[in-house]
Amino acid sequence: MSSLNAKHFHDDNAARLYLEAIRWPRGPACPHCGAIGEHYALQGKAHRPGLWKCKDCRQQFSVTVGTVFELDHTRGEYARGNVTTNTVEGYFSIFKRGMKGVYHHCDEAHLHRYFVEFDFRYNNRIALEIYDTQRTVNALAGIGGKRLTYRRPHEARA
Ligand SMILES: [Zn+2]
Repeated sequence: MSSLNAKHFHDDNAARLYLEAIRWPRGPACPHCGAIGEHYALQGKAHRPGLWKCKDCRQQFSVTVGTVFELDHTRGEYARGNVTTNTVEGYFSIFKRGMKGVYHHCDEAHLHRYFVEFDFRYNNRIALEIYDTQRTVNALAGIGGKRLTYRRPHEARA
């Protein structure tokens, strides 16, 4: 099973909780004043999920404040300070070209499998000085437990 089947890749709330656990291992950290820990979780219809109020400076924040997720593309904002979307846009550019130029179509049910392939391509690209020979070795190193069909060897043909 691919790790892309994990709930945090398919559910907005699970994704936010996953990011919070990674970004805030010691509890919510206010990006405005740096205070960590016992902040107030704002709840109810007036607040979006994951909104916090700092116990010290009283400002509101979420796990995405001060990150690349905060950039507003509808206002033409793609970089702020040292936060940029260039890398993820490069990745999706390669993915979109592959979808249009190679596969032409993929069912949503299999989308995570295509992402796994393009993750490999992106992480083993020439810009990282990984050329064909090393890319082949890296691909072969990961073939264990992978099959091209859904049917398992012990299953009878229908
Ligand atoms: Zn604060």
